[in-house]
Amino acid sequence: MRCPRCLSVMVFQKFYGPHEHFWGWRCIYCGEILDQTIMENRNDPKRLTRVHEHLLSKARLSSL
Ligand SMILES: [Zn+2]
Repeated sequence: MRCPRCLSVMVFQKFYGPHEHFWGWRCIYCGEILDQTIMENRNDPKRLTRVHEHLLSKARLSSL
C-alpha cells in the first residue's frame, strides 16, 4: 500500500475513535490515514486529478 499524498509506505493498524475502533492504513511519513470509507469517498474524478497533478509536480522536482 502506497500513500496517495507522498507515496511512502503505509501500515495497516487499528485506530481508536470516540465511539468505535476501526482498521485502516496510516502513512509512516506524512500521517495520512485511509480506511475503506475514505477510499470510496475519494473515488471521484476531481480528487484523482489533483493526485495526478501532485505526482506530476513531484516528478518535475525530482528531475531537476
Ligand atoms: Zn504519506
